Amino acid sequence: MPTRKPLLRDLAPDALPTLMTAAGEPAYRGGQLADWLFRRSAVAWDEMTNLPRKLRTSLAERYDLAGLAPVERQVSTGGTRKYLFHLADGHAIESVVIPMESHLTFCISSQVGCAMACSFCATARGGLVRNLSRGEIVEQALRLAADIDSEPVPGYGDRGYNIVFMGMGEPLDNYDEVAGAIETFTVEDGLGMSARRIQISTSGHADGLKRLLTLPQPVGLTLSVNGCTQELRRKLMPVPGRTPLKEILDLGERYARAKRRTVTIAYVMIDGVNDADDQALLLADLVRNRPFKVNLIPMNAIGGRFRPSPPRRLLAFQAALAGRGVRSFVRISGGDDIDAACGQLRNRRREKKSR
Ligand code: SAH
Repeated sequence: MPTRKPLLRDLAPDALPTLMTAAGEPAYRGGQLADWLFRRSAVAWDEMTNLPRKLRTSLAERYDLAGLAPVERQVSTGGTRKYLFHLADGHAIESVVIPMESHLTFCISSQVGCAMACSFCATARGGLVRNLSRGEIVEQALRLAADIDSEPVPGYGDRGYNIVFMGMGEPLDNYDEVAGAIETFTVEDGLGMSARRIQISTSGHADGLKRLLTLPQPVGLTLSVNGCTQELRRKLMPVPGRTPLKEILDLGERYARAKRRTVTIAYVMIDGVNDADDQALLLADLVRNRPFKVNLIPMNAIGGRFRPSPPRRLLAFQAALAGRGVRSFVRISGGDDIDAACGQLRNRRREKKSR
């Protein structure tokens, strides 16, 4: 097997001028290179026609340009698109495009697999394989954007996209690469996005949350709570459940105040497990008078012992929250007709293979 090189997109955009001068080229070539990498999403060296051939050859000796190979794309009736990519080492990740009310959301992965072992999540099966690199994270967004450009989602012409780290993996368990990718997404020489359009979702990684407080870009934050007693949280989320929920919520509140952004509390509704009224009352007491908003997410069935809460239960839970003065929103994740939820495409392919 040929040895893998680092991706050129693993580098920070502002490292490119230095890379050029070190190669004996004028610094402005760094800007040209950034343009190919982050604006024009080049995936082949030949595309970079304004760079000298010799320079491209010497870059290609040290760096790979493409880290992802598209393997499969599924489109759901609601317009949700799900992508399966192979990495250079043969592992698979997935990314999803979800049409929202006013924009598209790109749901991207931060790891191959995940170490958090949440019992309702398909990605958890098989554990953590490895972290994604900064370049692999960035390339997901570029490839999704290119696909949308070449085949627009009807009705979404030029409305732009948000990025959420809600694909495979625990983003705060891969802090450095995720923070690097966020830098590339937001700097002018990178994708030039507003940090307001980026959302990190965490199962409650305390060390990662402390580091996130120091991240220069004020990205949005979602805390996946999913259970309000220590016992239930440990059962559903064995690794994050080791940290007391109050500590996580306190860190979330500090984050909200420091960045002046409302933090989202995500609560996956699982039939007969965490959806009783008394759980709603506990949740209300935990989040009331904090700079939080609550999203209730009907669980996507992934095969196995858990089922989604029925719509009636969801509404009753929401009413119980409201009765204690907490507003919540029901979030339906589209694409369940195409296995778009939570690690399912990768698993389905693995099952096929092993047959
Ligand atoms: N590890 C991070 C980000 C990836 S999971 C986190 O936990 O937040 C993104 C979201 O999907 C989390 O809110 C998680 O609770 C939710 N999720 C996981 N499995 C799900 C399922 N089967 N149905 C619905 N939501 C699920």
